[in-house]
Amino acid sequence: MVNLSVWPLRILNKVGQPSWLSDRLEACLTFGEKMKVVKFGGSSVANAEQISKVIGIVTADMDRRIVVVSAPGKRNKADTKVTDLLIALADAVIEGRDFEADLNAVVDRYAEIQRDLKLPEEVVATIETDLRGRITSRGKNDAQFMDAMKAAGEDCNARVIAEAFTKAGSPAKYVNPGEAGMLLSDDFGNAQVLDESFEKLSSLKGAKEIVIFPGFFGVTKGGEVATFPRGGSDITGAILAAAVKADVYENFTDVDSVCAMDPRVIDNPPAIDCMTYREMRELAYAGFGVFHDEAIIPAVHASIPICIKNTNNPEAPGTMVVPKRAPGERTVVGISSASGFCGIYIDKYMMNREVGFGRRLLQILEEEGISFEHTPSGIDNISVILASENISNKKEGLVVERIKAELAPDAVTVEHGLALIMVVGEGMHYTPGMAAKATKAFSEAGVNLEMINQGASEISMMFAVKDDDREKAIRALGTAFFDL
Ligand code: ASP
Repeated sequence: MVNLSVWPLRILNKVGQPSWLSDRLEACLTFGEKMKVVKFGGSSVANAEQISKVIGIVTADMDRRIVVVSAPGKRNKADTKVTDLLIALADAVIEGRDFEADLNAVVDRYAEIQRDLKLPEEVVATIETDLRGRITSRGKNDAQFMDAMKAAGEDCNARVIAEAFTKAGSPAKYVNPGEAGMLLSDDFGNAQVLDESFEKLSSLKGAKEIVIFPGFFGVTKGGEVATFPRGGSDITGAILAAAVKADVYENFTDVDSVCAMDPRVIDNPPAIDCMTYREMRELAYAGFGVFHDEAIIPAVHASIPICIKNTNNPEAPGTMVVPKRAPGERTVVGISSASGFCGIYIDKYMMNREVGFGRRLLQILEEEGISFEHTPSGIDNISVILASENISNKKEGLVVERIKAELAPDAVTVEHGLALIMVVGEGMHYTPGMAAKATKAFSEAGVNLEMINQGASEISMMFAVKDDDREKAIRALGTAFFDL
């Protein structure tokens, strides 16, 4: 296991605070009534200026008691995230190359933060010692080593940020995920939280100082550092929010709110002020990028409301993601789209009378190891929509041959280059004419529809169009549903 105990005792005592502060802690810190878990993404903690904003945001609200931080992200468009620098460093070590330049690139990022926040110089030396310790204690398992290196980004940043809070007069303590009970499966790079973690982590609720918790990693039962998939600090925040039964999970990023449509396609799309978990899931399925829907599952299971907010404009109310919203508010909440799909269309006269046709079709896909997205069907036809990345040319040929041989269809065709468009809103369930509104918009814009599918839950409508028509289709829907 990586030795994380090298942090200077001169700076921190064993509970992670400067000892001169210990006595003052209880006296000067009164938390609010509620419990908020707050997560700051990479761009929110990329440099001293951003970290100072974080301190301002957390201390402005006494309910913000548990703070999850990412590794320093990009300071500008051309910059590299510390996690990517750490991956390059780990690769150099694994491949036996000289890694000094890669190591310095990481250390320099923290040195800049230390300098600008005027923290003690030892902070940087300690980070370098920590990184070298991770490298020298490397075992045989490269995936395990890679995770130990990736985790350093969040781990070092959390320690630096805890120092910065305390220096600014708001006592905070770094909490080590392993010691706090963030137990993960040993799928390195793709770990999952173990159920028993929630009980263990619930004790964070009693912390007397602001807790600074590094995102993205935990430890296996064997004590090895393991990370979630990339972007996994969101998962850490959701787990902590569920564990301490937070009143809200605030996820700070760099946008004022989630947009109802893709701002790269539509100028000034409306903001979403409130949506349900289900709406977010449906929108995220087709390319809604603010955060990954699966990342927040623990918060969803515990029914914790999530608020997406902007570190650079914390006064903006942000977007709430909640279990339920009142009917009557906004019928359609958002419209999203994604490219990279293909469809297999099968025609057979009297298909509706042939018992087991659908099962046998899907069985062919199952036996070829291909997952499918949708299967809209008519009386004499059925189509299967697949993500193109899940079916190679070779597999496609094989599947078509099997369909012909085993299902004796009148025709089988495969169409590539499809995009899916999702129109999402809980209110669609009660509102007549929604499909007509969309199809009218498509026909007026000259967009040919390849397929329509209304989910059984009736909170979304899905349209497949040719990729080339995608932007035109989205603009048409923007006009129809949001008067854009
Ligand atoms: N730092 C990690 C990444 O870049 C995790 C995160 O920021 O959420 O993927």
